[in-house]
Amino acid sequence: MNCRKSLWLYVHKKKEQEISESTQLVFNRGASVGELARTYFPKGKNAVIEPFPSFLAAKRTQSYIQAGVETIYEATFVYNNTLVAVDILHKENGKWNLYEVKSANSVKPEHFKDIGIQYYVVKACGLEVGDAFLMHLNREYVRKGAIDVQQLFLPESVLPDVLAIQAEIPAQLAELEEMLKGEEPQIKMGEQCEKPYLCDYYNYCMRLNPQQKKENIILSNEPEVNTNQVRNFVNKVSYPICHLDFETIMPGIPLFDDSRPYQQIPFQYSLHCQETEEGEIIHSAYLAESNLSIDPRLGLIRQLIKETTEAKCIFVYNIGFERTRLNEMKRDFPLYANELDSIIERLTDLIIPFRKKFYRTESMQSLYSIKVVLPILCPELSYHSLEISDGMSASNAFLELYYANDKEHTVKVRDELLKYCHLDTLAMVKIWEVLKNV
Ligand code: SF4
Repeated sequence: MNCRKSLWLYVHKKKEQEISESTQLVFNRGASVGELARTYFPKGKNAVIEPFPSFLAAKRTQSYIQAGVETIYEATFVYNNTLVAVDILHKENGKWNLYEVKSANSVKPEHFKDIGIQYYVVKACGLEVGDAFLMHLNREYVRKGAIDVQQLFLPESVLPDVLAIQAEIPAQLAELEEMLKGEEPQIKMGEQCEKPYLCDYYNYCMRLNPQQKKENIILSNEPEVNTNQVRNFVNKVSYPICHLDFETIMPGIPLFDDSRPYQQIPFQYSLHCQETEEGEIIHSAYLAESNLSIDPRLGLIRQLIKETTEAKCIFVYNIGFERTRLNEMKRDFPLYANELDSIIERLTDLIIPFRKKFYRTESMQSLYSIKVVLPILCPELSYHSLEISDGMSASNAFLELYYANDKEHTVKVRDELLKYCHLDTLAMVKIWEVLKNV
């Protein structure tokens, strides 16, 4: 429904499909959330027959229904050439309820079409449907010990939204079927290619439409500097100083006690410290063990408190992220609240001179992230040569280590993580030097 061409390509040019790493991670996350959600309605029967989805799964679903099974996972139905698989079909008070599991924290508009078409096909197959639920993660749930599935998931009825789109579904299906009989549709690339997900045919369409690639307009790197304002900013800073950067993971299913679905859990930091203006710059780092029985935050908090005691100013780049993480750790580890508060009080945001345009270049174009500012101010430093070169990759790489058995691979990934985070704070050191020299 998002793009007819992607359906056409899925049917006629399957080999052009390229599932990006980020999409694959979304799938994997969805699969593990989906499996856990089944335990919300335990002892159901699974209709899956590999390869799935298939018409055989629909036959198996029918046989379960006839045998009086009241909970069916991946319940499959076919009507007029349209196959749907309901994550969980559960009978309550003589009627069937549909549960579509989403590894999200809330109901989103893009979910309605998905469950709407399931409702349409299941009803058309003759089942009496009572309700339609989206079962998402409960953002208020705080893990204490083993996962409490009844608390982790929040089934939300979306029946009114599902009913609201029923009338248009038959015409839409007919139109799609017609479209599939024809030639490849000509559809211009646009927002639908990246939102809500990166399309699996993105590279294919880009190859066909190279002119759609953004033109590289060369913008000037010549700085325009408000010397007084930059010096004011610099003069307010007292030594010793530190430059701090966190890396986080965001597991949908909380991995540790006192954490919530999709809470950002810091697992790593890099710290560059300097006692006096002329003093040596000393680097240190924290990288948690990838061991699920150890909460990465605890060791991080203890080491961070120790290593920042002397600092009068703790630089971060874009303060909201680190400050929120510190406040969350304060909430989740009240034993360290005072020390964490003291760190929060000493934070200074190094993005300010750029965001407030005290120091700007045309090439910044109102973007001030460290990845934009660094190559302009210090072109000799670059993220390009790193295997892990952004926060999302760092997060995914660390999460993956929890399930990796290969020691050599673990050592390599940990080394890459250390290099990446080190560069983030080294970049801050270099940016600070440029500002000091204004
Ligand atoms: S890349 Fe865009 S235009 Fe091409 S199939 Fe996907 S959504 Fe459609």
